[in-house]
Amino acid sequence: MDTLNLFIHGRAVPSTDSAAIPVLNKATGETIALVAESTPDDVSAALESAQTAFGEWRQKPAHDRAKLMRRAAEAIRVEAESLVHLLTLEVGKPRAGAQREVEAAATLLEFFAEEGLRIRGEIPQLNLADERIFIVKEPVGVVVAIVPSNYPLILLSWKLGAALAAGCTVVAKPSEDTPLATLRLAEILAEAVLPPGTFNVLTGYGHTVGRALVEHPIPRKVAFTGGVETGKKIAALATQTNKRVTLELGGQCPALIGAEADLDVAAPALLKHSFDNAGQYCYRINRMYAQAEIYDEFLARLKAGAEKLKVGPASDPTSFMGPLVNGRLFDKSMSHIQDALERGAKLVSGGQRLSGPDYAGGYFLPPTILAEADHSMRVMTEETFGPVVGVMKVASLEEAISHANNSRYGLAAYIFTKDVAQALRAAERIEVGSVWINNIHRSYNEAPFGGFKESGLGREKSHYGLDEYLELKTIYLSL
Ligand code: NAD
Repeated sequence: MDTLNLFIHGRAVPSTDSAAIPVLNKATGETIALVAESTPDDVSAALESAQTAFGEWRQKPAHDRAKLMRRAAEAIRVEAESLVHLLTLEVGKPRAGAQREVEAAATLLEFFAEEGLRIRGEIPQLNLADERIFIVKEPVGVVVAIVPSNYPLILLSWKLGAALAAGCTVVAKPSEDTPLATLRLAEILAEAVLPPGTFNVLTGYGHTVGRALVEHPIPRKVAFTGGVETGKKIAALATQTNKRVTLELGGQCPALIGAEADLDVAAPALLKHSFDNAGQYCYRINRMYAQAEIYDEFLARLKAGAEKLKVGPASDPTSFMGPLVNGRLFDKSMSHIQDALERGAKLVSGGQRLSGPDYAGGYFLPPTILAEADHSMRVMTEETFGPVVGVMKVASLEEAISHANNSRYGLAAYIFTKDVAQALRAAERIEVGSVWINNIHRSYNEAPFGGFKESGLGREKSHYGLDEYLELKTIYLSL
């Protein structure tokens, strides 16, 4: 099997070394491709390419950049099938989820194409006789985008879209577990005539290639999505050269279910948001606090709903969720289950790896619900990043708010109660970047996303996300 090329300056190029990393089909465990472990020379070549391209891209009229980005989005739609196919294999997610991800990547490029046309400066009107002041925004420079394995294209597009719209160029490093769709995306965007060097892709491990990208003097910004501990390491390294940093890190998101909750809405919404993508996303629900009055009824509905969620390979169109991406994540889920059971939790559903011919090669874990959970258990305090959720009985919404805030994480929270005044007061007091009340729909490109506390730094999406790629410059003009 040949090692796949890197993507530097508009074309596929081999690494300067032969070291390779296998990429597995997550449902079967088979090796489906080999990707290069990029060398320091590859890192320099990609960053120099991005630096050269930055010179031209930043000068391009905003309308021309927007036109190219819209064309790139269209090219993604035309070639969607190849991206969907790769996502189902390398992430293991069902087809419908992979299709949504590819469409979201195209939509994000379109959204940022428009948002880039709305970048505005300022003129403070100080009525000075002989002087004028202009505050302008400039692209920050070359951006390193480091992305995890759960949503390789969406999480990249949050960064790529904003960077390109701002006038920045990008070197991306996808997760070593899921690099294939990103390499294919680079080909598609180059064919859609995004200028060479505006988007480069290097493959390899984080502690080697990721680290070399962060340490290199060329990039002016690192945009990272991944685990909290990795994010802290990257931020500490980036500080050595004062690079700008955006961090989208882990979550340990609480759901608060009040006595007045509409359980017909709450139970299905909470199930979906606990187990979608096999529980592998940052703002999924990891812990629930249900008021005593509805606790038993709520648990019964969760159990009945969880048992209906079909677990299986992406090749089965009826699968709701696929396998976990790797053994490390599977072991973490199992350790959270084990720990909770040892400390007195009750297993309501799931809890065991699935076996049988359909499941033999992948880490398939069914939706796992642990009742009678409390804060002595890791499932209530650490990010599981798998299909495991703890449910705790509370006496009041007040108690639930206090538990919700008893966390080093602060990404998102979910509140269910028909008492809207109580819900809004709770939303205002919970220390997180996003709160959903009384149902859980998607998160929108027009709204910022990011975390309080250790869940992150800065925001992505929306015009706030674009600002993270712009520097402010003040120009004083003496007349
Ligand atoms: P991870 O932190 O292990 O890896 C993420 C990326 O960082 C990978 O590309 C990896 O190669 C790279 N990396 C690892 N060590 C590095 C280093 N020292 N220097 C530079 N790069 C390095 O995360 P993961 O296990 O792939 O993903 C799961 C985590 O991502 C979870 O904690 C999840 O909550 C988080 N996540 C956050 C968001 C968000 O928007 N807040 C979204 C999705 C996932």
